[in-house]
Amino acid sequence: MSSADYSKGAAWQGGRYVPIAEASVPLTDWGFLRSDAAYDVVTVWDGAFFRLDLHLERFLRSCRKFRLDPGRTPQEIVEILSQCVKLAGLRSAYVEMLVTRGQPPWGSRDPRQAVNQFRAFAVPYVWIANEEQRQHGLHVQVSKVQRIPPASVDPTAKNYHWNDMTMGLLDALDAGADTVVLSDAQGNVVEGPGFNIFAVRGGRLVTPAEGVLEGITRRTVVEIAGTLGVPVDVRALPAEELRTADEAFLSSSGGGVLPVTIVDGRRIGNGEPGAITRRVLQMYWDWHYEPRYSVPVRY
Ligand code: PLP
Repeated sequence: MSSADYSKGAAWQGGRYVPIAEASVPLTDWGFLRSDAAYDVVTVWDGAFFRLDLHLERFLRSCRKFRLDPGRTPQEIVEILSQCVKLAGLRSAYVEMLVTRGQPPWGSRDPRQAVNQFRAFAVPYVWIANEEQRQHGLHVQVSKVQRIPPASVDPTAKNYHWNDMTMGLLDALDAGADTVVLSDAQGNVVEGPGFNIFAVRGGRLVTPAEGVLEGITRRTVVEIAGTLGVPVDVRALPAEELRTADEAFLSSSGGGVLPVTIVDGRRIGNGEPGAITRRVLQMYWDWHYEPRYSVPVRY
């Protein structure tokens, strides 16, 4: 019986489970040297995976787009993710699966010769906004940094090309905002570090169509809006329309629906999370207890 301490999280790598602090990527893996990897994050809430099927499908799609091979069936991946959650003893968790390119034989620069490496880990649930921000809304800055164009790095394949987001985030934090949303070359907002964005205008939801990761939370919000009878426009969202929205919120597996109350120093609505935002947020959490969306972890 192993005495390993999994209390801070558990990872799977190289065919075995290790405490999260012992998990690592070799220095020469292109996943590290070139951000050459695909990943996905699914959450566990109150003992059950939320929309696990959609996360697995997106993960395998991301891998195919980047010509990466996880080398495992979806069932094998689920088994590994479940075991990580179980070892860490987590009722609510942030569960990541990833494939790195690996490294081609020494002297070769041909990525086809690399052996791709699958890893996974489970750590305590990650909120991308703190309690105060969730209660009263986030202050968002629209960045001057342009999001990497989709023709360069496909944003629909979940990836680690985050330099644009990190530089934008640093500027936003320096300016006193809580987070950042990036725009495309036309001045339409697209997404931010770990989230999609929604504006509410005239009783309708608007979320960017192009240049974004098709978030599972974004999809869930669109489905919730359907249930609530709130129309959704999936189209370009000019930054000015976000600044002058009636309500705004972020969507992310890292916290669900997160109200935004200030954009570029300007108050959104009355400066408190809006009525539609609150209804969507409530239903997002209610849906975690719907059997059709949840897969219980076998502890
Ligand atoms: N956009 C980016 C760039 C992300 O990294 C993420 C999540 O990490 C999202 C959007 C939101 O996706 P999801 O709702 O599937 O978590």
